[in-house]
Amino acid sequence: MTTSDPRPPSALTIAGSDSGGGAGIQADLKTFAAHRVHGLSAIAALTAQHTRGVTAVSVPDPGFLRAQIDTCFDDFRITAVKLGMLANGDVIRAVVDALDSHVPPAIVLDPVMVATSGARLLEADALAALRDQLLPLATVVTPNLPEAELLLDRRIHTVDDMQAACEALLAAGANAVLLKGGHLEDHGDVVDLLATSGTVHEIRHPRLSIEAHGTGCTLASAVAARLALGDDLRTACDRASDYVHRALLGGYRPGHGDVVVLDHF
Ligand code: PLP
Repeated sequence: MTTSDPRPPSALTIAGSDSGGGAGIQADLKTFAAHRVHGLSAIAALTAQHTRGVTAVSVPDPGFLRAQIDTCFDDFRITAVKLGMLANGDVIRAVVDALDSHVPPAIVLDPVMVATSGARLLEADALAALRDQLLPLATVVTPNLPEAELLLDRRIHTVDDMQAACEALLAAGANAVLLKGGHLEDHGDVVDLLATSGTVHEIRHPRLSIEAHGTGCTLASAVAARLALGDDLRTACDRASDYVHRALLGGYRPGHGDVVVLDHF
C-alpha cells in the first residue's frame, strides 16, 4: 500500500450483529459513515436483540468468518480494524490468525463481554484468549470498568483505581488503554483515561443520566474511524469521546427500552 493508492481509507468491523440496530455491527457502520469512512463488516456473531435485551445468539463457523475478513482485505484499503463481540475462543483464534496474516495499521479492541441488559456476549472460558492473544495485537483496548475488572480480576472504585488498572493492562501486554469511567459511582464528570506507556491523558465530559444502548461500540468504532483517517491516537480518542457525548445528547428511544444514540448529524 502506498500513499498514491487511489482507494479511500476503509475501516473494517469484526463484531456481532444487533438486530435492533443500536449496538454492534449496525452501530459501527453508522459511525463509520458519520465520519465519512467507508465501512466494511465481518460478522462474528448474530444476536436477536432489541432495546430491552438479547433473546438469542448464533455464532457462524470460524472458517466463514475468516472468509469474510480475507475477502475484505483482498480488495479494500483497510486502514483500521475494530473488534467487538467475538463470542467464543474459536472465533477469537480465527481473528488472531487473520490479523497476524493481514497486519492492519490500526486495531481497536472493544473487549465486549456482557451487554448492559446482562446477556453474556463472550463465553467465560474465552476471557484468557482475549487477554493473552488479542490484547497485545491491538493499538488500543477500550474496556469499560466491568470489563477491566474481569480482565484484571480486581475491583475498580475510584479514579486512582482506574489509573492502577490502566498500568496493569499495559503490564498485561496492552499497547494503549482507553479506560471508560462511566460506571464509576460518582456524581461528577465522567472521566475516561487514555494510558500509554509513561503517559496518562484524561478525557472529561459532564455526566448524562441517560440509559443508552451501544455507546461502547460507537466509541470504539469512532476511534477506529479517526485512526483510519490518520489521526494520532490521542486526537482520535478525544474526538471519538466528543462524538459519543454529542450522539447521546441527540439519542432517541425507538423501542420500549434503552435510548439508541443518534449516529448521523
Ligand atoms: N450486542 C452486540 C452485538 C454488541 O456488540 C454489543 C456491544 O457491546 C452489545 C450488544 C452491548 O451493548 P450494550 O452494552 O450497550 O447493551
